[in-house]
Amino acid sequence: MNKFSILIIEDEKNICDFISKTLTSHGYRVNCATTGKEALSLASSLCPDIFLLDLGLPDMDGMEVIYQIRRWSGRPIIVVSARTQETDKVRALDAGADDYLTKPFGTSELMARIRASLRHSNRLNNDHGLPLHPYRAKELKIDFFKRTITIKGEPVHLTPIEYKIVAFLAQNSGKVMTYSAVMNNVWGPYAESDNKILRVNMANIRRKLETNPAEPVYIFTEVGVGYRMADDEDNL
Ligand code: CA
Repeated sequence: MNKFSILIIEDEKNICDFISKTLTSHGYRVNCATTGKEALSLASSLCPDIFLLDLGLPDMDGMEVIYQIRRWSGRPIIVVSARTQETDKVRALDAGADDYLTKPFGTSELMARIRASLRHSNRLNNDHGLPLHPYRAKELKIDFFKRTITIKGEPVHLTPIEYKIVAFLAQNSGKVMTYSAVMNNVWGPYAESDNKILRVNMANIRRKLETNPAEPVYIFTEVGVGYRMADDEDNL
C-alpha cells in the first residue's frame, strides 16, 4: 500500500511522539526531525507528501525552513506552533505554508487539516488546478465548469468578483486563505494592500449565502488572518 508520508519537524520530543503515534495509527508513514538542519536534509532525501512544522526550532527560525522547502517543493506545509500572534500566522502563510494550527490542538482537528491539505495538493497535481468535482457543503453547491452556485437547488446570483472570491475559497476549502492571498487571486498582483474592498464583498456574499450572516456556516473568518471555507463534503 502506498501510504502518504509525513515529516514532523518538532524539537519537543513528547509532542513529536504524540503526533507521530496519532498519524501512524491513521495509516500515515511518519518521520521526525528535531532541528531545521535535519529537516532540510530529510526533506530532500524522503520527499514527504506533507510537512508538519513547528516554528520554534533550536537552530533556525521555522520561517527559514518554509523558505528553503518552497525553493524546490510544492508539497503542503502545515505550521504547528504555540505562536498565537496573527502576524506570525500571516507571515507563515504568505511565505508558502498551506495551513496553520495553534498548540494545543485536538487530534481530529489535525487530521482534518492534513486531509484538506492533501486533497488540495492532489487536485493541483492531478487536475492542473481545475477541480473536476463540484464543491458541496450542506445546502451549497458550486459547479466550477458552469460557474453556478446553488443553495437547495436554487441559483444564487453573485457578481463576477463575488463568484471569484467564493470559487477561490471553495477550491481551497478547509484551509485558511489570507486576505492578501484572496486579494492577489481576485484582483491580481497590483491589488491595493488595504483589504476593505474584500471585506465589503464578503459582507455581500454572506448576505446571499448565509441564513444568518453573523453566524456563517459556509465561509468563516479567521480574525486578522483571512477566510476559511467549510470542508467540501464530497471530498472528505
Ligand atoms: Ca519548539
